Amino acid sequence: MRYSRQEIFPKIGKNGQQTLKNKKVTIVGLGALGSNSANLLVRAGIQNLNIVDRDIVQLSNLQRTLFTEQNIGLPKCVCLKNYLLKINSNININSHATDLNHKNIEIIRSDIILDCTDNLETRYLINEYCIQEKIPWIHASCIRDLGEVINFKPGGVCFNCIFPKSKSDQTCETSGILNTTVALTSAVQVNETIKSLLNKKVNPNLIRLNVWKPGIENISLTKNAKCNACNHDFKYITGEKLIKTTKFCGSNTFQLWGEPIKIEKLKKKLQKIGKVQSGDYFLIFKNLTVFKDGRVLVKADNKNQAKADFSKYVGN
Ligand SMILES: [Zn+2]
Repeated sequence: MRYSRQEIFPKIGKNGQQTLKNKKVTIVGLGALGSNSANLLVRAGIQNLNIVDRDIVQLSNLQRTLFTEQNIGLPKCVCLKNYLLKINSNININSHATDLNHKNIEIIRSDIILDCTDNLETRYLINEYCIQEKIPWIHASCIRDLGEVINFKPGGVCFNCIFPKSKSDQTCETSGILNTTVALTSAVQVNETIKSLLNKKVNPNLIRLNVWKPGIENISLTKNAKCNACNHDFKYITGEKLIKTTKFCGSNTFQLWGEPIKIEKLKKKLQKIGKVQSGDYFLIFKNLTVFKDGRVLVKADNKNQAKADFSKYVGN
């Protein structure tokens, strides 16, 4: 009954619905696009998910995500998992509150990967991984009233063929974004995902969307014979080019790395000086969110202030 309306739609049908149930999907980045796409995917019948995000929920996220006031200050991964389980309590979700890099890249292994990140370097990493492992992936990004979606298939044109140089791109922090842009882009991204999972013909173009002056433009893409990623000369999955994120897009949050942390032990220490909020693999104290893998997010005006608070409460 849950999927009856979708099963009547001939392009999906009962068989298609069964296929979706057995597929595994990864979403990297759980901001505006990631949380909206996860919502659509789970409601459409995806029951096996990997979700990856390094950030915490902030007030300014509420305009375009699924998060609520109660989620502010908590890891996006944890909040989204709880939300998705309310839609369907029988689904399997592997939640990874971490920064995706060449060492932990295997956490995204699945039938398809959705890029909902906010940075180019993570996209190069996903691109190389997907070429190597022959996994399809769907790139999406949006800004202001404009969205972009590309459905990448193994052996076809790749992200690096189209965007070979990391340019300093615009961010939502400086250019703004409408939640309607997110809704439109997310809908197209998820629809391409479903078509790909069902082995239907997918859109081979760069799909450019405009929500203010409603329109869709299809831009054809050509494979670059000299593309280093297509020629398996990998830079990101090998660790040759390291992703060093210290400040997150659209926030005053800094990321610092230390040794792996015993959450219970640190909690006891910090409880003596203030209120500590904690979960299985993280704790929140004042302006710090500490993860057991040694990653610490610090809200601060600048990097030095972030480092100072890190040393003061967590140690070097
Ligand atoms: Zn390429």
